[in-house]
Amino acid sequence: MISNGTVQSFKVAQQKLTINTGHQLLHCKLKLRRFRLNISAIDAAQPFDSEAKAKIVTDNKNALKIGIVGFGNFGQFLAKRIISKGHRVIATSRGDYSSVATSLGACFYPDIDDFCEEHPDIVILSTSILSTEKVLKEFPFQRLRRNTLFCDVLSVKQFPKQLFLKLLPENFDILCLHPMFGPDSGKGSWRDLPLVYEKVRLGEEKGRKSRCKQLLQLFEDEGCRMVEMSCEEHDKQAASSQFITHTVGRMLGTMELADTTISTKGFESLRSLVDNTYNDSFDLYYGLFMYNKNATRELSRLELAFDQVKGQLFDRLHEIIRNEVFITEDLGIPLKVENSDKLNQAGISSSSKI
Ligand code: NAP
Repeated sequence: MISNGTVQSFKVAQQKLTINTGHQLLHCKLKLRRFRLNISAIDAAQPFDSEAKAKIVTDNKNALKIGIVGFGNFGQFLAKRIISKGHRVIATSRGDYSSVATSLGACFYPDIDDFCEEHPDIVILSTSILSTEKVLKEFPFQRLRRNTLFCDVLSVKQFPKQLFLKLLPENFDILCLHPMFGPDSGKGSWRDLPLVYEKVRLGEEKGRKSRCKQLLQLFEDEGCRMVEMSCEEHDKQAASSQFITHTVGRMLGTMELADTTISTKGFESLRSLVDNTYNDSFDLYYGLFMYNKNATRELSRLELAFDQVKGQLFDRLHEIIRNEVFITEDLGIPLKVENSDKLNQAGISSSSKI
């Protein structure tokens, strides 16, 4: 039996439900209207607005979803340019970069499993050289799409190439990249800056080839000088150029060279060398040394060259001192220096007045 009271409360509940549903409908309509207003505002939006960024992505029919692993200094630098070209960027890192990512127009996934389950077309490894092996050994590759294009931007190349071939699933494509510039040297235009790459492994399918081409095109469109080269050759050349540049930059940075009122163009170049190298993490510099087998030889050559130049200076200084010593002896004046080889650390005789 249903009592009158029960029927009454049922009617009241039904009435409330109708009112609520009405409210929700109204709310949805308002939301829709607001949504329409947002879209129509795009024309007037500034490029830094999130709506403008969203529009760039929707406008680019061939937009790639690019996942960046390691959202530090270089990862963010890369993301900015990729997003500006109309591609979607998702990122993951050891630390939390959620707000930085949002401000750049990227999506950040603190959990690497969630990142992989977003199925990016391309994954770019931008972690430190030193952590590469650990990151790859813990990477949940099985959560990515089976034909993912896996890339790296490490400043050494043979090491990641070998690791990729050893640890990545066989069906992944592999592209090793080294943009030979960074957040300081590539702050403005990338015109004529070298992009070294090796297509280590690419599937035959048309889609796979065009995906790789599209990524390389991104750098080409920015004006980069595209250099296709084996990873091994890269390391040989980079040891005598990039590693030496970083070493000299670090040495000068350690000297804390200050600006002077009479700075020459040459001195200004040295200061800009410091700016372009000294801000990079020490991990990066150590990686250039530790994971490029050619670096030790180049460091020894640099040391030898420094010793030779220093030697030339002190040889001339010794010659002047010796001349002075022998002239004095010829005139019959007693020698103050009994042993002309007894020189202090700077190579100057303690009794010399030079
Ligand atoms: P970096 O010090 O070489 O690397 C920092 C990145 O590595 C951060 O994303 C950091 O993640 C991650 N990382 C460090 N240790 C880690 C660990 N134990 N486990 C997981 N992740 C770790 O500085 P970078 O300048 O950003 O360079 C990134 C990569 O780009 C390097 O491989 C470098 O060789 C290459 N690269 C750099 C430049 C440049 O000019 N800077 C140019 C070309 C190529 P968290 O921040 O989340 O800890």
